[in-house]
Amino acid sequence: MSKKKRSRGGAIWGLKCPACREGNLFKPVNKFTDLFEMENNCPNCGQRYELEIGFYWGAMYVAYALSSAAALGSTLLFMFVFDFSMMTSFVLMFLLVMLVSPSIFRLARSIWLHAFVNKKE
Ligand SMILES: [Zn+2]
Repeated sequence: MSKKKRSRGGAIWGLKCPACREGNLFKPVNKFTDLFEMENNCPNCGQRYELEIGFYWGAMYVAYALSSAAALGSTLLFMFVFDFSMMTSFVLMFLLVMLVSPSIFRLARSIWLHAFVNKKE
């Protein structure tokens, strides 16, 4: 069975290794705190994930940008598409951002790592 190679976008979205686009960036999730546990190296090709100490501090800026976009987008959606009051929209937006924050955290780290590591040819 030949598997189609993932695109970079697919690898970022799928939280895959930037070098081989196959290995997972994160450990399997069994409990809530596992959501934040990354592998140290790619299980498939051995690519290091923490390039230097504190490498992922920069991912916080990506997470901040993603959260802001999600917050703004969902507030506008609730207010202008669903016609909720501003207060209701803010409460719903807050709950939504809380709910998706683990995904944002993971996606931000994926984007950040992919920005620094290129695919091995
Ligand atoms: Zn890999």
